[in-house]
Amino acid sequence: MSPRCVILMYHVIGMPRGAAESRLCCPPENFVRQMECLSRDGWNVIPLSEYVLASARNRPVPERSAVITFDDGTACTHEQALPVLKRFGFPATVFVVSGLIGGRNEWMTRLGHPERRMLTAGQLRELDREGVTIGSHTVNHVRLAGLDGARLGAELVESRQQLEDILGKPVLHFAFPYGSRDASATRAVREAGYESACTTRAGLNRPGADPFALHRTEIMGGDSLVQFKFKLRIGSHDMPPWSLARAAARRWLVRAGVLAARDPSARTAN
Ligand SMILES: [Zn+2]
Repeated sequence: MSPRCVILMYHVIGMPRGAAESRLCCPPENFVRQMECLSRDGWNVIPLSEYVLASARNRPVPERSAVITFDDGTACTHEQALPVLKRFGFPATVFVVSGLIGGRNEWMTRLGHPERRMLTAGQLRELDREGVTIGSHTVNHVRLAGLDGARLGAELVESRQQLEDILGKPVLHFAFPYGSRDASATRAVREAGYESACTTRAGLNRPGADPFALHRTEIMGGDSLVQFKFKLRIGSHDMPPWSLARAAARRWLVRAGVLAARDPSARTAN
């Protein structure tokens, strides 16, 4: 079986400022331990573009390949994550809400989440200089499923143009806010000139996978290192001990022919 690539999905690297964001906030010391784990256990952390290119050519990636992504573009990506990524020499991709550059996480505060600063244009340029790939996460962090063509185009094309104006280089990768997508949205992402799109659907990615429906594994604020290690291997969002037992029991039942195999679970995050 060809090696599969795990694409990790982070949001905020920082201490949660309340229960509402505890899932989305990975404490900085946890993030350091997770990066140490990737390094110590011999994971090949590769740029998203490297996986997309290999996959397009139906070439396997090396054993234990992982891609690191951050959604939203909060300032902590520059202030907390970048120094750690540099220390380990790990590439990463940040998906940015282009209409809020230099502003606040307005789509979150409307839902009762604490206020967070977003990356500034200067921070985006520095991330780019340091080898971090900048991708788009729409202009306004909207759900794309069900949007009409004009609004889809505005969110996808304008976002790309805004980021390209700041960076002076092509922006080729996209992540669906909330994992919200349908056939029209996926087609619009492709037509807007992107080369890949990340979803929030859990699972590992095999060579030849649809580049506009990449699976990711959400690393949550409360994940222990043991859970993190299992997620790398299994590609699941949820990995409490009881779910390990349930997953093992399910695999046994599938092998025994009692249950039908199915895709990894799908859950949406922002
Ligand atoms: Zn998001």
